[in-house]
Amino acid sequence: MLRVTDLVKYYGDVRAVDGISFAIPGASVFTILGPNGAGKTTTLEILEGIRDPDSGEIEVFGVRLKRINRAVKERMGVLLQEGNFEPYLKVKEVVALFASFFKSPLSPDAVLANVALEEKANAYVKTLSGGQKQRLAVGVALVNDPDLLFFDEPTTGLDPQARRKIWSIITDLKERGKTIILTTHYMEEAEVLSDNVCIMDHGTIIAKGSPRELAARLGQETIIEFTAPDLSEDDLASLATCDKPSDCAVRKDGDLVTVETEDLAPTMEHMLAWAGKRDLPLKNMVVRQPNLEDVFLSLTGRRLRE
Ligand code: ATP
Repeated sequence: MLRVTDLVKYYGDVRAVDGISFAIPGASVFTILGPNGAGKTTTLEILEGIRDPDSGEIEVFGVRLKRINRAVKERMGVLLQEGNFEPYLKVKEVVALFASFFKSPLSPDAVLANVALEEKANAYVKTLSGGQKQRLAVGVALVNDPDLLFFDEPTTGLDPQARRKIWSIITDLKERGKTIILTTHYMEEAEVLSDNVCIMDHGTIIAKGSPRELAARLGQETIIEFTAPDLSEDDLASLATCDKPSDCAVRKDGDLVTVETEDLAPTMEHMLAWAGKRDLPLKNMVVRQPNLEDVFLSLTGRRLRE
């Protein structure tokens, strides 16, 4: 569906996108994950045709291009940031307005059905909740029945219920054969929705693959977490000194202590003895498999949201 080769974009001296390459199969969700300033939005804006790259090549719908043209844009949908619609227009009027920009749009009723807003067709935009406004924004991105959709942080600021509704719309779109390019700061969102993920940092791609493949890069590791406000460097050092079969990696980030181990049972035994000696309650203890945040941390030594 889309192939990008050696894409580069400068803003003055800042190399915002530094020679990235990736390919996205049709009917899939591709997520670009990365911290603030990684180059995610710039990449999306180039692919949406809002910005021109300085160099590189884009192949989309089987056509090779230096920059996105009008014909390609006709087959794309872009999620606009919520809150920008005229508050005194009705929901159906907003959809009809955006539909009027395209040669053969879907009917407003079909669009509203796609985003579960049929009942709000005659409601004024100003009366919608945050989640409903965001669903309207998704509807607007669908008016031209696009094959390729761009969702730049679609659920930022939404409550968990509204977020899950957007997830189910994205999953439905994929099942109907659409390709979705997503950016997000939310690990869980990337893990639940993505067929493929690329992790960007400082304008480059530092890892790509399915969420499962990326987590597998951390081998057989299991992560144990707990909170402890007052641990000394000595306490942490002795926690890291498991006898068998190898030392475990220990990190402290605020009150959160993270222990990575390839051998859960002996590490747990060691931890319980260690905590017992210090009379520590091991509050909020969680044992889990590595996630994309752990992958980012292991690659960069930083958290995605610092
Ligand atoms: P965020 O998660 O904060 O949206 P991002 O990964 O989308 O970040 P970009 O917005 O693409 O990152 O920014 C990449 C780099 O380019 C950053 O260093 C940013 O400061 C810089 N940058 C972005 N837009 C501009 C601009 N219009 N002019 C100058 N520099 C810019």
